[in-house]
Amino acid sequence: MITWLYPERCPVCMQIVTPKGVMVHPECKCKLDSIKEPVCYKCGMPLSSEDEEYCTVCSYKNNRGWDQGRSIFPYHGSVGNALRLVKKDGRVEFVRFFAKQIKEKQQAFILRMAPSCIVPVPLHPSKQRLRGFNQAELLARALGEEMNLPVCLLLKKQKKTKDQKSLGKNQRIKNVADAFAVDEAVWPEENVPESVLLLDDVSTTGSTLTACANTLKARGVKRVAFISVCVAEQPE
Ligand SMILES: [Zn+2]
Ligand SMILES: [Zn+2]
Repeated sequence: MITWLYPERCPVCMQIVTPKGVMVHPECKCKLDSIKEPVCYKCGMPLSSEDEEYCTVCSYKNNRGWDQGRSIFPYHGSVGNALRLVKKDGRVEFVRFFAKQIKEKQQAFILRMAPSCIVPVPLHPSKQRLRGFNQAELLARALGEEMNLPVCLLLKKQKKTKDQKSLGKNQRIKNVADAFAVDEAVWPEENVPESVLLLDDVSTTGSTLTACANTLKARGVKRVAFISVCVAEQPE
C-alpha cells in the first residue's frame, strides 16, 4: 500500500508549493508544454496541419499492435525532468500530479476506449527489485483511482532489454521482441478483458507498447489503447 504524500515541491519549477494539497503553482501549470491538437487519430503524435488525420507512420503502417494511443507531454522539458526524478530519486509524490494531468487532458479519450482495466507496462523483476517500484504501476494505480478503473498486472517482462532511447528503429523492435508475456498467475481464463488501457511513463516510437499489445491480443484481448505520460521523440 502506497501512502500518497502531497508534493511539497512543484513538479515544474521544483520550488515549494503551498498551501498543502496544491500540487503545482498555477503560473507553472499555465506553462506546461502539453501535446496539443491537432494530433494523429491513431498514435496521438502532433500533426502539422488540421487537415491531416494520421501522421506519416500511421498512414502507411496499418498495424502497430495497439489500436489507439495518446501521450500527454514531450519528454524534454520540465515534465520529463519530474518523471526522471520519480524513477531515479523515488520522488513518487509526483505520480499523483501526472495521473491528474492524464485525466484532465485525456479523460474523453479513455472513456471512448472504454477499457475494462489499466495494465501498466512491466519492468523486468531484477530492475524492479533494484528500483523498489515500477513507476508505470504507480501511475496506473493513481490513474485507476482518478478514473475509477481497476488495475490488472496482466503482463510480465521476461527478458532484459536495453534502453529503447539508445537504439535505432530496427534495433528497438528486435530489443523488445518476446520481452513480454502474460502473467499466467493472474491471467483470467474466463472473462478475458475485451478492452485494455496500457500505461507507460515514457514511450519512444511505440515498439514497447506494440510488443505489449501483441502479447495481450494473442491471448484474446480485442482492443488495446495506450496512454504514455511523455513521448520521447517524434516517430521517424
Ligand atoms: Zn512551480
Ligand atoms: Zn500516428
